[in-house]
Amino acid sequence: MKDVEQALFYTYCRDGIYHIQCSGLVPGPGHVYATLIVGKERALLIDNGYGDDKLAEYVGELTEVPVIAMVSHAHPDHMGGYAQFEDLWLHEKDLCQCREVFPDATFNQEKLTLNGTRLHFLKEGELDLGERRVRIISTPGHTAGSVCVYDEKTRMMITGDTLSQRVFLFCAKPVIPFRIYKQSLLKLLDTDFQEFLAGHHPMPMPRSWTNKMIAMLESFSPEKGRTYEREELGNSLMLYTTGRGFGDPEYCGFCYNCQELKELMA
Ligand SMILES: [Zn+2]
Ligand SMILES: [Zn+2]
Repeated sequence: MKDVEQALFYTYCRDGIYHIQCSGLVPGPGHVYATLIVGKERALLIDNGYGDDKLAEYVGELTEVPVIAMVSHAHPDHMGGYAQFEDLWLHEKDLCQCREVFPDATFNQEKLTLNGTRLHFLKEGELDLGERRVRIISTPGHTAGSVCVYDEKTRMMITGDTLSQRVFLFCAKPVIPFRIYKQSLLKLLDTDFQEFLAGHHPMPMPRSWTNKMIAMLESFSPEKGRTYEREELGNSLMLYTTGRGFGDPEYCGFCYNCQELKELMA
């Protein structure tokens, strides 16, 4: 489903962080966001939407410093705009997905290029943007190579699809067990972040959401799952959530494939 408006804008801005709504609709939450963190010498752009708009140009209007483009994970709604950048950073473990996610692009695994874009591997650790430090945190769960970014200055965490109202835990192949995803969430709690910006939410969400998601994982039992109907994704997807759906402040939980229960619960 595509709804391209070509008009980019940000839904949230604070101390050099911009949460930018990209074009294209996503079933469920509706929109996808890219996040820009601006330092004195460099800026970091996390994700780039479906690629139906001129995000790189828009980012150039928000800052004059050079921009490092990275993705929270290699999914088409977060990495679809890769062609606008000469260089793009992603986690090594999501590299194998590029071929599958962008079947029409020429992916060269040896040279690490996707069409004309050079790919580079993100390393866990700190990155200095000039009087502003951010930390890349590896958080497998949604995909094997999912990462979150912590901005020390604002104590904001950028989570991509790792943490949001509803998290998809059926995308990783091989399957990532719930306990590994829980460890990723605990890793986020090791930092002193106060709020997080998720890839499909316009405004920050509170740190306490992390505990809410951990509680959902801990209370999970297969009998409590209910069918999640998304035609194109087959009929084995299940939801384990509280609340009634997006827009309900109580809505929290995850979606999984009931055929992978053994591996998920390992
Ligand atoms: Zn995703
Ligand atoms: Zn997404």
